[in-house]
Amino acid sequence: MNIYTYIILAALIIDFLIGIITDILNLKALREDLPREFEGVYDAEIYKKSQEYTRVSTKFGVITSSFGLAVTLVFWFSGGFNFLDRIVRGWELHPIWNGLAYMGILVFLKTIISIPFTIYKTFVIEEQFGFNKTTPKTFVTDLFKGLLLALILGGPLLAGLLAFFQYTGSLAWIYCWTATTAFSLIIQFIAPTWIMPLFNKFTPVEEGELKDKILSYAESAKFSLRGIFIMDGSRRSAKSNAFFTGFGKNKRIALFDTLVEKHTISELISILAHEIGHYKKKHIIQGMVISIAHMGVMFFLLSLFISNRGLFDAFFMKQTSIYAGFLFFGMLYAPIEMLLSFFMQILSRRNEYQADRFAVETTEDSESMINALKKLSKDNLSNLTPHPLNVLFNYSHPPVLERIKAIRLI
Ligand SMILES: [Zn+2]
Repeated sequence: MNIYTYIILAALIIDFLIGIITDILNLKALREDLPREFEGVYDAEIYKKSQEYTRVSTKFGVITSSFGLAVTLVFWFSGGFNFLDRIVRGWELHPIWNGLAYMGILVFLKTIISIPFTIYKTFVIEEQFGFNKTTPKTFVTDLFKGLLLALILGGPLLAGLLAFFQYTGSLAWIYCWTATTAFSLIIQFIAPTWIMPLFNKFTPVEEGELKDKILSYAESAKFSLRGIFIMDGSRRSAKSNAFFTGFGKNKRIALFDTLVEKHTISELISILAHEIGHYKKKHIIQGMVISIAHMGVMFFLLSLFISNRGLFDAFFMKQTSIYAGFLFFGMLYAPIEMLLSFFMQILSRRNEYQADRFAVETTEDSESMINALKKLSKDNLSNLTPHPLNVLFNYSHPPVLERIKAIRLI
């Protein structure tokens, strides 16, 4: 046990405890009576169901994270990292292949272990509340497509990063930073046309009133749209959503078919206006700049710690290696990551208010935005009264009642 052991152990435990504490507070904050704002939207039965959904998913989340922590600790303190390293080294591969095999096996094991939990979540919990539309066949093909994509896209990137540290000396972190930045920009650019269609079908919005209204709104907001697509979200879940993807000329907005089905045209325009608001208020660029800067800091710190013997001792490693250095540094870096994500959530909630305001101001229709938010909450069985501490740590969006209150003040 050395200083690195204590830091990493403390980070794992603190992260776990924050999760548990905010979960407990959240369950205690559930209220019997429906908030006044939602009278006429929820009936008593649906409100009860939404609370039950929060209860069941929270408890399941606690079980999943407890299990995850236990597995990590057992693997770590039984010398699992060194055991796997000995096996992989026994194959006498080139150091880069060694690294790919080591990381690949760990990712594969992690995926296998999480499968029963994902199955239970999808086919028992989501099923029980009427959300699940995933067939076992879709589930299995999703799993394989996901693994294959990780292999095809993640494999070469990881090989490149390992090679930079292996061969380019003290400037490796700059090469890694540049490569990762280029990689993530390319992925974001090709995601709407190459990656997402592997999982969903995107159909352009049909000619008609919806399309006309969308186009005239986009024109009035001076937003050039490459495409507005309906995504078959109903293939997996009855929950509804909308999102923005790509950038530059490749930007698109996707509305879930489940969303289009349940909302009026003016509500859909409000939702679309909110998404366009994220673009217009530069939230997309802001997110990209922060993540690029973050990667630079991370690779620089990685270069300082990658051959730190103490870090390898903390994981009972007999031999040092670049690939294991990546992994252990990732765990040592977790506290900074937690702090960063805490501030990112605050920023994201602020951005949501800005996008709401943009939507209301440009559509001049606050009622439709409010109605859309209410319907979304109802259809997704959202928790209407989350505990403030849970919101502080875990919510990327402000609670719906606060959003409505803010919209009314515009
Ligand atoms: Zn938003």
